[in-house]
Amino acid sequence: IKENNARQFWQPMTHPADAQANPPKIITGAAGVRIRDIDGHETIDAVGGLWNVNLGYSNDAVKQAITGQLDSLPYYSTFRGTTNDAAIELAYDLCDFFAEEGIQRVFYTSGGSDSVETALRLARQYHKLRGQPQRTKFLSLKKGYHGTHFGGASVNGNNKFRTDYEPLLPGCFHIPAPYTYRNPFNETDPARLAQLCAQALEDEIAFQGAETIAAFIMEPILGAGGVIPPHESFMPMVREICDRNGILLIADEVITAFGRTGAWSGSRLWGVQPDMMCTAKAITNGYFPFGAVLIGTRMTEVFEGDTSGKGAISHGYTYSGHPVGAAAAVVCLKETVKANVAENAATRGEELFNGLQALAAKHEMIGDVRGGHGLMAALEVVADRASKAPAGAAMMNTVYETAYGAGVMLRVSGPNIILSPPLVLSAQDVADILSALDAGFAALG
Ligand code: PMP
Repeated sequence: IKENNARQFWQPMTHPADAQANPPKIITGAAGVRIRDIDGHETIDAVGGLWNVNLGYSNDAVKQAITGQLDSLPYYSTFRGTTNDAAIELAYDLCDFFAEEGIQRVFYTSGGSDSVETALRLARQYHKLRGQPQRTKFLSLKKGYHGTHFGGASVNGNNKFRTDYEPLLPGCFHIPAPYTYRNPFNETDPARLAQLCAQALEDEIAFQGAETIAAFIMEPILGAGGVIPPHESFMPMVREICDRNGILLIADEVITAFGRTGAWSGSRLWGVQPDMMCTAKAITNGYFPFGAVLIGTRMTEVFEGDTSGKGAISHGYTYSGHPVGAAAAVVCLKETVKANVAENAATRGEELFNGLQALAAKHEMIGDVRGGHGLMAALEVVADRASKAPAGAAMMNTVYETAYGAGVMLRVSGPNIILSPPLVLSAQDVADILSALDAGFAALG
């Protein structure tokens, strides 16, 4: 297996030319918050799979739910007038869990990109049902990430995820993200920057014409763009602007739902009720590919009031509401509540954030430390603090490999080191992550 690594299998983020010299690590086992590679080397998974393994890797209750469901009903469609008990139970549980967000109905998907696509489609359907078919455009944040499908790629705010696939969905426009370290306004004060970004949203709406816009989609804390928490005033301002202009607000909570931010959702963290929440990832903690789009009051009323028989109810596909995924999600949600992972995320997140700031005081190459809301944090690495020139791949690789050798798996994304460990992390795990990072930066000399 090691010899054939990366020969026949094109792996994302691994350039084929690089794969021989720098082969992907082959992960063969996982338990708790740790993963093990083919050489038997064990590391704390500071990436939490890919932001999703909140409960860790060896939750017996989830495993039992999956095998039990495989035994009773491994699959049946929820598309043609049939459904399954796990999907029904989960829908009730999700609406209950996200009552504070105003969630009333659920559409199931197979992952985050599918959830985003579903939300964009539902936004257009909603406006059509209300007799406003001209509301087709989507607004989003630069640096936002919304998945790999064409709709998601179109609202992605990072050119890297868009330009190779153009032409994309027409009518998608991006406004500056509330990213204090680098922004077009040169504004470092988070509250003032939030206001400038909100104003940019107002300006774009005025420029496009409010009556042409279907929805604004945002991550309550931007994740893949480098963990960018907006000022607490930002999302409430966005909500108010959307309301005033008849625009739907889609919260892409694929990362932020289920406790990662230290609150049960990113929307709850900022005190906002979105019209839709895109969820996936931790809904099944990586145990099964699954997702859900959660629908608030405003859209529920319109969809349920539709008598054409051709409305949202026609939306769905082969694997939406998959019984094994739904059964896994039902138990994941119970375990999530039982372990109160949001509280642990808040406590451990604060320790991690403080520790990262201490590292930044020690290592010149750490240009910016972001986080402070649960267990999602990032270090932006620079070649030079004064010019803020981003660190190159070689520097990032040194930190990554050194930390890996010291027992911690990191995620490197451009000049950012992104930390999103399982939420069941212990204080000792946090200390171990920090000391591996310390070793990684020390290796830069
Ligand atoms: N939205 C957000 C905010 C995400 O972080 C991601 C994945 N990182 C997606 C959508 C896409 O999810 P998936 O990879 O499950 O398709």
